Amino acid sequence: MARNYQSRKRVLVTGGAGFLGSHLIDRLLERGDEVVCVDNLFTGTKRNIDHLHGNPRFEFMRHDVCLPLYVEVDEIYNLACPASPIHYQHDPVQTTKTSVHGAINMLGLAKRLKCRIFQASTSEVYGDPHVHPQKEDYWGNVNPIGIRSCYDEGKRCAETLFFDYHRQMGLDVKVARIFNTYGPRMHPADGRVVSNFIMQALRNEPITMYGDGSQTRSFCFRDDLVEGFLKLMDSEPGFTGPVNIGNPNEFTIRELAELVVELTGSKSTFDYRPLPQDDPMQRQPDITLARTKLGWEPKVQLREGLERTIAYFRDFVA
Ligand code: NAD
Ligand code: UDP
Ligand code: UDP
Repeated sequence: MARNYQSRKRVLVTGGAGFLGSHLIDRLLERGDEVVCVDNLFTGTKRNIDHLHGNPRFEFMRHDVCLPLYVEVDEIYNLACPASPIHYQHDPVQTTKTSVHGAINMLGLAKRLKCRIFQASTSEVYGDPHVHPQKEDYWGNVNPIGIRSCYDEGKRCAETLFFDYHRQMGLDVKVARIFNTYGPRMHPADGRVVSNFIMQALRNEPITMYGDGSQTRSFCFRDDLVEGFLKLMDSEPGFTGPVNIGNPNEFTIRELAELVVELTGSKSTFDYRPLPQDDPMQRQPDITLARTKLGWEPKVQLREGLERTIAYFRDFVA
């Protein structure tokens, strides 16, 4: 619903030049809010927000959330953090700093402003899960010293900080645990499975299948996910989450590859490679809490979402 001048909010989105952040910003601007986008452009790109330049309700600040930030806003969405394993493993110390120092700075900002703050957490807090599907009360199975730990433990520590600021200082926090999400505006070289498979299929190159492809993921289309963000942020005071936001339809990585090949009409074959260390074998959200508390559930299923994503990626293939 469009907001009028009196109800318009000034909203900070960290990581706003990234895949999910830029979509969230589009939705906030559409409904009439003002947006301050903070991003250090590590994995994000100005191309994702180019269309917003000249919009008087949009501001971009190039800034690293590991450093203190002094702005005046009514709400904060904290999304800053590389999300693809190849990116977050590139400089793992910086990844942990981004999650932990970033959370401390954004929570300090929220504390000073007495404003509501949202954290983009992740299904990675469940690690390689022993409970299936994953519910929010599952504590997870995470290797604290592996190559994924900078991301997993960084995000777990950020959740700890959010709940301690909530209990200790009364901060109004909202924590979403996001499951694998895909869609237009993912970077073609992002390295995550959906963008890799689509780019490889469109170029008729071998599809890089890690392991035997029997590991599973549950893929959520980005529009559904952003809708879930907005519902959680606007939920009743006192509802903090953590809440799973994802699509419960689970697929093996091989099924995903076969569907991408079918939808692109590709001649690609499969190139089997070793499974990376600590790669979770299965992942599926239990979204009962999101359904009951937020009235949210995903609407776009994998085939339709992939068709829309493939159409976007065709522009990158000469
Ligand atoms: P993305 O890499 O496209 O976006 C992350 C953004 O954060 C980029 O624009 C990057 O430049 C910025 N950033 C990174 N470090 C920063 C820093 N120190 N200071 C300021 N900006 C910084 O990834 P995405 O898929 O859009 O993910 C957004 C958020 O959602 C992340 O926090 C991620 O952990 C979380 N998440 C995403 C998924 C998914 O499947 N897409 C799943 C779980 C969690
Ligand atoms: N902070 C910030 N912007 C603000 C207020 C605080 O970036 O508007 C940072 C500040 O650098 C501090 C962190 O948030 O290190 C945590 O703030 P808090 O008030 O919780 O802690 P303190 O300043 O007491 O260490
Ligand atoms: N994967 C794959 N080929 C690729 C990229 C990823 O088989 O080119 C696999 C990866 O090993 C994992 C799954 O696809 O089992 C999802 O990987 P992604 O990096 O997208 O996300 P995450 O592992 O963080 O869920």
